[in-house]
Amino acid sequence: MPTKEGIDLDSIAYFNEKFIPLREASLNLMTHAFQYGTGIFEGIKGYWNPDEKQLYIFRLKEHYERLSRNSRLIRLELNKSVDELCQLTLELMKRNNPSCDMYIRPNVYKSGIIVGPSLINKNGSNPTALSICTLPMGEYVDISKGLHVCVSSWTRVEDNAIPPRGKIQGSYVNTALAKTDALLNGFDDSIVLSRDGHVCEGSAMNIFIVRNGKLITTQVSDNILEGITRDSVIELTKKELNLDVVERQIDRTELYTCDEIFFCGTAAQVSPVTMIDHRPVGNGKVGPISKQLQDIYFDVVKGKNPKYKKWCTPVF
Ligand code: PMP
Repeated sequence: MPTKEGIDLDSIAYFNEKFIPLREASLNLMTHAFQYGTGIFEGIKGYWNPDEKQLYIFRLKEHYERLSRNSRLIRLELNKSVDELCQLTLELMKRNNPSCDMYIRPNVYKSGIIVGPSLINKNGSNPTALSICTLPMGEYVDISKGLHVCVSSWTRVEDNAIPPRGKIQGSYVNTALAKTDALLNGFDDSIVLSRDGHVCEGSAMNIFIVRNGKLITTQVSDNILEGITRDSVIELTKKELNLDVVERQIDRTELYTCDEIFFCGTAAQVSPVTMIDHRPVGNGKVGPISKQLQDIYFDVVKGKNPKYKKWCTPVF
């Protein structure tokens, strides 16, 4: 029986090298990652294709490659290869046997039962653990209409503080502050700026703008997560729409003057923004390029476009 947030505690999770019911997967209060946010996580989505009775996991390998690479940032010692992580996830998904869109949440974290923030694992004192759970996922934001977002008063964490490229647990307090204040102020979401006032990304999604038919997205050195959806959108734009994408710094005021804005991310998918800080984006309607990319994206993730089937890993 799922909780009211839709989490089924009887579903199977991977925890301490075993498949066990989620309700039994509990951490000790003294766990390092619980005290200091010293873990890295991923968010991966599986799309249910009802015609084929198949669940396609989108860019599974690329998510684990990112996790594996970024583990080095905080000295996590991941003892599994990308291939093993993919296989484990497929096994877990098979055990849960869903027939709806699913979200996968792996965490690699410092599991030492110790006090003190050091990441060093001296004589096994601060080892690394892995957990994976899965849950049904509907829409994270309402993509049927455009979003009304604000520029957040919170500044993005930066590379030399808590690197946003890392998807580090503790850095999501920054995301939580930006998202919560946006919601409390009546917006659907927010855009965070760097200390020098340039655009970084949405609270938990990357951002694209359209100016005079040209797509622009923030460059990877502008304190963003190097999004896998961002990478997919860049490729789809070039190959399917024959348009170029420029990766460069974006000014705040370009958000107010551009023709289209959309967010993209595993959970956010392709989400058009039609109002920003009470100003309409372009003509205030979902823009044509955003709409085309949204349609292309949905076909691709559901395994309906043979050209991009390589991005979709079947579970069954
Ligand atoms: N930025 C942030 C801060 C995020 O949390 C996410 C979601 N993972 C994204 C961007 C989008 O990344 P991806 O497309 O890899 O999900």
